[in-house]
Amino acid sequence: MIYTDVNMLIDGAWTKGTGGDEPIFNPATGEVIGRTPHASAADLDRALDAAERGFREWSGMSPHARQQVMEGAARNLEARKVEIAAWCTLEMGKPLAESMAEMDFVIGVIRWCGEEGRRAYGRVIPGRAADHQYLALVEPVGPACGFAAWNFPGTNVIRKIAHALGAGCSMLLKPSEETPATAMGIAAAFHDAGVPAGALQIVFGNPPEVSSHLLASPILKKVSVTGSIPVGKLLVKQAADTLKRTTMELGGHAPVMIFADADVEEAAKMFGGAKFRNAGQVCVSPTRFLVEEAVYPQFVEALTAFAESQVVGNGMDAATTMGPLVAERRIDVMQALVDDAVAHGARVTTGGHRIGNVGSFYAPTVLADVPDTAAIMNEEPFGPLAPVSPVSGPDEMFARANRLNVGLAAFAYTKDAGIAARLRREVRAGMTGINTAMISLPETPFGGVDHSGYGHEGGIEGLAAYQQTRLVAERL
Ligand code: NAD
Repeated sequence: MIYTDVNMLIDGAWTKGTGGDEPIFNPATGEVIGRTPHASAADLDRALDAAERGFREWSGMSPHARQQVMEGAARNLEARKVEIAAWCTLEMGKPLAESMAEMDFVIGVIRWCGEEGRRAYGRVIPGRAADHQYLALVEPVGPACGFAAWNFPGTNVIRKIAHALGAGCSMLLKPSEETPATAMGIAAAFHDAGVPAGALQIVFGNPPEVSSHLLASPILKKVSVTGSIPVGKLLVKQAADTLKRTTMELGGHAPVMIFADADVEEAAKMFGGAKFRNAGQVCVSPTRFLVEEAVYPQFVEALTAFAESQVVGNGMDAATTMGPLVAERRIDVMQALVDDAVAHGARVTTGGHRIGNVGSFYAPTVLADVPDTAAIMNEEPFGPLAPVSPVSGPDEMFARANRLNVGLAAFAYTKDAGIAARLRREVRAGMTGINTAMISLPETPFGGVDHSGYGHEGGIEGLAAYQQTRLVAERL
């Protein structure tokens, strides 16, 4: 399968821009497979101007007409998903089956947002005087911009595009420069379905320069960010001067609470599968495994066996279940976390090393007896490392699960109704999976609490993030 020539989409036209470019690497081979064009300040100004015009045209269409365009984009993607999924694997490394599943999710999000965008109902509030009525009107907030991380080149991108377009906003998006083709392929599906010029635009560039330029503009009324906590904080500050609305989808460090009554084999497969999916480069990845002492040795053994069953290789090979890390730079981060854990008394039960010296492959790794003082119990590893630690009982479990100031996802395995009730009440996380790792659908709200960010993508909350309420009072 062949990679593609990457362009930006500005004011309805494909362009290389005038800001230079940078190489795109295939992380499985280390080869340069293309170049990501960069927007200059002048290109960004053109895009800002078009974002305003695009907003006027798109928001002026009926929700039904907008839904028809979005359905056209979904159909285009159905026809093109095999090709775009291959680009995703080539630029990012994940196994082709995961890229294909991601494209199906992308299509599902477009359809859901297109349909739900037709239900921006508002309400009529009766007046206190008989001849008055009050209309609470729901309308799009205006031209919006987004910044997206590389780890889900399709999902992170569509969550910005589809919620904005579904709500009637224009979206000026800067996806990751490391995974541009997937974003471009998705944008092309909308472009070819007839989305007006400027209603959807894709730019790349020097990230701090692009963000400071766009966020200083009064044209844009909203910014949505999927990325790391430090970048999220920076962009919130940049958005403050123009008082833009902000949605922050930031990093996590999900606790996985394995209680004494757990089916250990099933829990190890379920959460191990979620752990090594996308080589652990998932914001809601199961991260620190807290296991009640009664089942601790069995769980460590089962998770180790599961890790060893992974087939690590080039994501384009059908047998591969785990691909490389996104880039060479991530290998050193993994090794430093493993070495630090070992220095704090952890045991490596499997993995703990790089694989080969071509491509950025790191072995699926299980670390047992990891104390909370080790760096990996506090910093998001964003890789295939599973630290496991014994826990004396439920009270310690809840205290340790809530120990950090991030709260994106949390997972647990128990059939005990009392513990499940405590999980619903006490866990500080935006999303909790009890006996399941499947916490995200197009129709469910996705988002964190505390330093994992605020606001949602997905569900009616995802559309509400791009809508505002306006009151009209009428004397009849
Ligand atoms: P990142 O913060 O480096 O980049 C995110 C986006 O911001 C990219 O478009 C990037 O180019 C841009 N950016 C980077 N540095 C910037 C700067 N100084 N100024 C302006 N823009 C900048 O994140 P990443 O390394 O690409 O992704 C990994 C992080 O994303 C992890 O922390 C992960 O948990 C998080 N993430 C969160 C979610 C979620 O929904 N909560 C989903 C996926 C990933």
